Amino acid sequence: MKVAKFGGSSLANATQFKKVANIVMDDAERKFIVVSAPGKRHDKDYKVTDLLISLGNAFYNKDKYKSYYITIIDRFTKIINELNVDDALVEEIKAKIDATLDASLSYEDLMNQIKALGEDSSAKILSAYLQTLGVNAHYVNPKDAGIIVKNDPHGAQLLKDSYEKIYTLREKDGVLVIPGFFGFTKDGQLATFSRGGSDITGAIVSAGVEATLYENFTDVDSVYAVNPSIVENPHEIKQLTYREMRELSYAGFSVFHDEALIPAFNARIPVCIKNTNNPSAPGTMIVADREIDDKCVVGIASDTGFSSLYVSKFLMNREIGFGRKLFQILENEQVSFEHSPSGIDDMSIIIRDSQLTEEKEQKIVKRIYDELHADFVAFHRDLALIMVVGEGMNEAIGMAQTATTALGEANVNLEMINQGSSEVSMMFGIKANDLHRAIKALYRAYFE
Ligand code: ASP
Repeated sequence: MKVAKFGGSSLANATQFKKVANIVMDDAERKFIVVSAPGKRHDKDYKVTDLLISLGNAFYNKDKYKSYYITIIDRFTKIINELNVDDALVEEIKAKIDATLDASLSYEDLMNQIKALGEDSSAKILSAYLQTLGVNAHYVNPKDAGIIVKNDPHGAQLLKDSYEKIYTLREKDGVLVIPGFFGFTKDGQLATFSRGGSDITGAIVSAGVEATLYENFTDVDSVYAVNPSIVENPHEIKQLTYREMRELSYAGFSVFHDEALIPAFNARIPVCIKNTNNPSAPGTMIVADREIDDKCVVGIASDTGFSSLYVSKFLMNREIGFGRKLFQILENEQVSFEHSPSGIDDMSIIIRDSQLTEEKEQKIVKRIYDELHADFVAFHRDLALIMVVGEGMNEAIGMAQTATTALGEANVNLEMINQGSSEVSMMFGIKANDLHRAIKALYRAYFE
């Protein structure tokens, strides 16, 4: 039994729904189908989830919300009509949106419920459409599927006891179409996962039903070794381990949600990233172990939007508790950190810019001077991180040298290196302006 999850681009319009239906019908093992909300049809289009978020915010703030409402209903109506599915479904979806726009709901409940309507409607439409094609398909609400979660402002978290109930889905008849992105708390409140979280539902269902394979359908033939918008026609990755995928998705490979790796990894369910628009392409497999060849590096990921907090104090290495006090300040300011390379008298802490405000930065710097009596404290902005990823890298000789030589020849200044903390990656910090040049140079050095 397989789980197939279809992302937003796979359900953006009626044509895409038809491709999805063909893929479902093409393999009798595809029993559990998890869907996203309709995504963008073209570059300037909106994802239905974003429209729903705008609708919820406008409604809650008593702003004009009708245009969002109409656009959303129009998108669903068009899909339903073009698929020749019974019109009554338009009314059902409309009634559900109307019922959710309830002024007595708290902001959190309103937003959770409204965000979930994209996936919920997609699942109802796909199951109705499959039925018109003669497939014994059923819509299954996440509550009935047993997806029980704990609410969390950063995204719902699955409760472990869910798995027992999810396993019983195996006994249900036919093809089950389950909306992604949300579950229910023990007391019946709807709670959504973090953005892009339909992947998480797919992984949870895969682990729960003990699927032989979790197929994740998106709009690329495979995961590429490097961002194709930086390097033309990059090498396709055939196989990755969970650890490699984790490192790559951390630093900008957005093909698979990093949180979704956990349930798949724990249950050792192989994941296959495939293309809805080219389903016969083999895709990329994500597995527990792979054979490691002498090339080691599988991919180079990168992301911008980082800052480094630099702290210097003479004899820092001898001061007991310095690190704890420094990190305590960050904790008090509710800031998490990414990496922390250090020297004898200095320490750098890499932080995502999205966590910082000017006010927070000033407060952190002041507290470090006042409380830790540092000699020098400063935030350095506009950093980009590059992760060179591959199993077996920590044992291969000369891996770092290849990178530093390539970067040096490309005239890229290295702000920092972190090697050895992770068994499967090396991290380089550079100025964001140099990023494209650096990635091209590294790709040439490792892959060409
Ligand atoms: N529709 C949700 C989002 O846009 C979840 C998903 O597509 O996976 O974040």
